This record gives sequence, C-alpha cells and structure tokens, in this order.
Amino acid sequence: MDLFSDYTMTIGGKARTTAATLDVINPATGRPFATVPKAGAAEVDEAVTAAQAAFAGWRQRTIEDRRALLIQAADAIKANAAGLAKLFVMEQGRAFEAARGEVLFGATWLKAVARQELPVEIAEDTPSRRVELHREPLGVVAAIVPWNFPFLLAIWKIAPALLAGNTMVLKPSPFTPLCALKLAELWREILPPGVFNVVCGGDELGPLLTAHPGFAKISFTGSTATGKRVMAAAAGRLTRLTLELGGNDVAIVMPDVDVDAVAKELFHGAFYNSAQVCIATKRMYIHEAVYEPLRDRLHALARAAVVGDGLQPGTNYGPVQNKPLYERLLALIEEAHSQDLTLLSGSPAPEGGGYFVPLTLVDNPPEDARVVVEEAFGPVLPLLRFSDVDEVIRRANDSPYGLAGAVWSRDIEQAVAIARRLDTGNVWINQNLQNSPGIPFAGRKESGFGVENGEEGLKSFTQLKAIFIPKV
Ligand code: NAD
Repeated sequence: MDLFSDYTMTIGGKARTTAATLDVINPATGRPFATVPKAGAAEVDEAVTAAQAAFAGWRQRTIEDRRALLIQAADAIKANAAGLAKLFVMEQGRAFEAARGEVLFGATWLKAVARQELPVEIAEDTPSRRVELHREPLGVVAAIVPWNFPFLLAIWKIAPALLAGNTMVLKPSPFTPLCALKLAELWREILPPGVFNVVCGGDELGPLLTAHPGFAKISFTGSTATGKRVMAAAAGRLTRLTLELGGNDVAIVMPDVDVDAVAKELFHGAFYNSAQVCIATKRMYIHEAVYEPLRDRLHALARAAVVGDGLQPGTNYGPVQNKPLYERLLALIEEAHSQDLTLLSGSPAPEGGGYFVPLTLVDNPPEDARVVVEEAFGPVLPLLRFSDVDEVIRRANDSPYGLAGAVWSRDIEQAVAIARRLDTGNVWINQNLQNSPGIPFAGRKESGFGVENGEEGLKSFTQLKAIFIPKV
C-alpha cells in the first residue's frame, strides 16, 4: 500500500472516491500536497448503511474473536509506523519523533483496550433470584475527531467501540484526514467489511453525521463551541453522546520546587505539540518565591527550542496546524503587544509560508487578559504570579472549563490537598499530560460530558441490560 498517494475513503470495506475533492495543506509550507474525497449526504448514508449491515454479524462474534482482529489491526499499525509517522508530520506538522511516538502509542493503546473484558456482573444473588447485568453493543457509532492528535484520539474511540461489538463511521478533521484514510485502507484486509468506515470532507460533513438517524451514539472530540452544536443535534433522538472538549488547564507551582529540576517538565507540559493539546498547561501559576528564576529558566528553554519543519532533523516543535489558528495566534500576540503586556519570545520562527509561531511566554498579564481567559491552543503561555493557596485555587477554578491541571510541589500531601480542590476531571502531581488505556478520562463543566478510556469508557459504548432471573 502506498501511504503517500491514492487517498480514498473506506465504506463497506471498499475504496470510495467522490467527484468533489478537498486539498490537504502541509502546515510547514502552507501549500497543498494531497487531495482527498469530499463526502456529502449520499456517502454518509452509504457508510451508515454499510455499518448497520455489518453490525448484525460483528455483535454476534465473541469478544475473543473481536479482540484477535483488533490485535491484528494494532500490529498492522506497528508494521507501518515509520510511513504513517511521516504522513502524520506532513499533514499535522509535529516533529517526526513525536509523530512516530503517537502512532506507536496508538498501536499499544489499541492492544491494551482490546485485552479488556466486559463480563456479565451479578448485581444480586439471593435464594429467590439472581440479577445479571449484561453489556450490549449500541449499534453504529459516529466518531468525530480533531486535528491535534488525529491518530491517538481516533484510536481512543475505535478500540472500545469495536471491542464492545459496535460498528463505526469515523470522520477525521478536514485539516488532517490522511492518516485516518490510510488506517482504514490498511484494515480492509483485517476487519470485516462495514465494521470500520471512514468518510472525510469539509465543514459541512460533521453536521451531516450528527443529523443522521442511523447512529446509536456520537463520540465527539473537539472544541466546546462545536460540542454544544453536536449536543443540540443529538437531542432530537436522544442519541447517546460522549463529548471531550476544550480546556484552559492550570499548573500550580508551589514555592518549595527545585526550579532547575521542574522547569523542563513544566515547559514540556505547556508546549508539547506546539501547545495544541487539550490537556496542556495553558495558565501557569507560579508562587512569587520562585517566579523570577522559573520564568527566566522557561524563557531560556524557549530560546533554545528549535521551531521548524517536523521532517527536518533537529526540529523540536513544528508549525501550528492550520491557517485560521495561525492567524488567531498572531492576533492574540499582537493584542498582547498593544496592551503593553511583556512578551518573552523563544527562538525566531522560520520565514516562508509555513504556520510557524515562536514559543512565547507572557510575563504576569492581568487575570482578565484574553491570553489568560481563552484557550489559546497554541504556543502562547501566560505565567501568573500568586502568593496564597486559597487565592490560586479560586483563580484556577474561575473558568468555564475543567479538563485537567497539575500541581508541582515537594510536599505531596499538600499537593494532593490542592488537587482535590481543583474543579477538573484530571490532576497530575509533579507530572504532565498523563493518560493511559486503563484510566478513565473525563472533563468537568464545559470541558466535557461522559468518559473515555478505562472500564467506564468501554462501558460507555454499551447499553446496560439488567436481567432478573427467578430461582423458584
Ligand atoms: P473543532 O470543534 O473545530 O472540530 C472538531 C471536529 O468536529 C472536526 O472533525 C470538525 O470537522 C468537526 N465539526 C465541526 N463542526 C461540526 C458540527 N457542527 N457538527 C459535528 N462536527 C463538527 O475542534 P478542532 O479545532 O478540530 O480541535 C481543537 C479543540 O479540540 C480544542 O478546543 C481542544 O481543546 C479540543 N480537544 C479536546 C480533547 C479532549 O479530549 N477533551 C482532545 C483534543 C482536542
């Protein structure tokens, strides 16, 4: 299979093209380099019909059978990891080793989820009756994913949905459709036709999916604004929903940290993937006792970081992924300048047509500055000074979002106490960006609705059925 040409959708196990097409742009050059199909209502209908037809057989297979096929599917990713990683860099922009990391982590994740179980649970067992809790698949799942982790976030949905016996129509972001299209092509020889379908297209395609009556569940990852539209579309039929949405996550750095020891990790937690991470640190609250030394250390790391084309050896951080985001970030930086905020820039961004933004720190802006209040979703990080624990917790929680956060301190007990007071679904202590197939992941407030991963995530792709069995 040639990963670098002939991009087709997969519907019912077969290649599907359309007369209309869409260009895919390499964010390191700003120029198109690939063309993909542009699906409309007819193709969505075809994909749903194929997934519905496949559902009957797929749900009847044993979980062991489905597990074996998903493990084969994971092996196929591993065998093609280098090529998929290169394609990933070309469409998403990330530095090559980090892209390869996501592809390989995707394969590992798929295998780990494939090994999970969905046993019948006994809710009650008395002399008169036994009550069994069965978990049945829902039907056809619509999976809608963003461009920032185009590979892993698709796997987060594919693995549990298919293991539980559902079939799927996946829609990648219009900005990053290529890895998903090739993944489905790779799996045409492994999964039965119709079990896993991929459609791609423009902005109008998401609403076509969420409006389609054939879906039993929509699993969506993306922005909070779009998540609200998805929820409204799902309301008409009470379609089951998981929403993984935006965040404006904090790191709280206590006065007892060893600045030299933590700076690199803090930097990584904020700027990994050019800060296009839902769970990245987006507001860094630093205790006044260590504010200046840590700020200077972070600034030195920003100056030393190499921003460039992800396929060039030595690049640490790629471009931001798309032009609208690039323009929004430039406007955010411009606005900060015009408000006389102090900006500490990293190494200069390469010239040319690529969407490169220098890694930028904002030195203690006011709490109501746009760069603090909004999810920048790019490499512009506000550093904020604090002096009191109650005050910093109040500031951290003063956000419509509640995805994740981190607390940095040598005093683990105090850090846990702070973690328990943060209104978020995840908190890390002295670490960043942690997740794992076995650990449930959930957002609070406008960061989400429902759970992915872990036992709860797997169960969210099932219908609970209680069967009451008399003993007399
Ligand atoms: P987005 O909401 O613009 O798009 C996400 C997906 O939804 C894309 O596939 C898009 O084509 C599709 N879409 C757009 N409009 C739609 C509609 N009306 N109905 C259905 N689908 C529609 O988000 P984005 O810019 O691609 O991604 C960045 C956002 O995603 C950030 O806010 C980030 O925090 C969030 N995110 C959250 C998580 C999480 O797990 N909580 C993970 C990654 C990214």
